Amino acid sequence: MKVARIMVESHSPKVAVIGAGISGLTCARFLVEHGMQVSVFEKSRGVGGRMSTRRSPQGYHFDHGTQYFTVREERFSRYVDAWVSAGLVDRWAGRICVLQRGEVAEKGENPARFVGVPGMSSVCKHLAADLQMKFRCEVGSVCNEGTSWRLADVESTPLGAFDTLLVSAPAPQAAALMEAVPGLANRVGQVEISPCWAVMTVFRCTLPLGFEGAFVHESALSWISRNSSKPKRPDAPESWVLHASSVWSHEHLEDSREEVAGALLDEFWGATGHPRLESEHVAAHRWRYAQPREPLPESYLFDQESRIGACGDWCGGPRVEGAFLSGLALASAVVDTLGTN
Ligand SMILES: Cc1cc2nc3c(=O)[nH]c(=O)nc-3n(C[C@H](O)[C@H](O)[C@H](O)COP(=O)(O)OP(=O)(O)OC[C@H]3O[C@@H](n4cnc5c(N)ncnc54)[C@H](O)[C@@H]3O)c2cc1C
Repeated sequence: MKVARIMVESHSPKVAVIGAGISGLTCARFLVEHGMQVSVFEKSRGVGGRMSTRRSPQGYHFDHGTQYFTVREERFSRYVDAWVSAGLVDRWAGRICVLQRGEVAEKGENPARFVGVPGMSSVCKHLAADLQMKFRCEVGSVCNEGTSWRLADVESTPLGAFDTLLVSAPAPQAAALMEAVPGLANRVGQVEISPCWAVMTVFRCTLPLGFEGAFVHESALSWISRNSSKPKRPDAPESWVLHASSVWSHEHLEDSREEVAGALLDEFWGATGHPRLESEHVAAHRWRYAQPREPLPESYLFDQESRIGACGDWCGGPRVEGAFLSGLALASAVVDTLGTN
């Protein structure tokens, strides 16, 4: 039995996936289910990418990137239903409105909004279970050696040779890793991704604002949410996440975290009209690559000849749903090309 397994493994394609966000993990899981040997390389210390959950040294948890996700396509809906049944995801029924100069207005459309429980990263953790992962590993160079791709990290430590290379990093980072195939790299390099400064803060008492999330207009902020109002966050203190607009984030990209936290808290009190309170905790995080301005129309890119491909929310459609479907589409294309069990 063991011999048979070793033989299957030795003949199955070796695939490297760069990035452990939802697109890369979806792709990796699908390929493993189709008999391929997959290694995932991730530069941060955990899974999730822009869907990760941030833990402060004091033990506070924040969804500091993705706030919730919606479902438009039937193909995605089936997976989300399964995640809900498995207790990985729940609906966030909080009141979401529009905030403009202290005035609260209802949001026109009100789709079902889903969040990971007990934190946004739950889906990615689930997808990553049993995958062969290497964390704190930033891939710095990829070299095409004819029939294989040889990878090394940023300190030139070799990471191995692979039959197929799949990149799920945000487009500007992906383009740099795909330079060996200039046609693809140029296409990827066309996609611009807007930045976003996020501020995470905790208060001692509940703010009587009458909503759980708001799209903010005419402000440096674009979005604020009561992080602690999301389902299955037991005993969470009153915590808020503030997102700056892409214009403000771009203009203040190189500001210090302290400057950004101070400026965005000022905006928060100005936008809500609530008297200023002292924060129990405050931290800022810069997402240099937050949201694609204009995703490519293709849901994935794959060069059959050199066996290099890319996926992510900048392919096909933005947001979590687009990233998931992109990862799935790339994996299907790889299976069709390499054809395994
Ligand atoms: C502030 C913010 C708010 C958002 N709000 C929402 C929302 O409310 N709803 C919604 O649907 N979507 C939202 N999004 C978008 C959503 O988060 C993304 O569409 C989705 O998570 C993208 O997944 P991905 O796998 O394509 O990319 P990522 O999650 O970015 O994953 C790419 C991974 O690649 C890794 N990586 C990059 N370069 C390397 C390298 N050289 N070596 C190794 N690893 C590397 C990165 O560390 C990262 O983990 C938001 C995003 C941000 C930043």
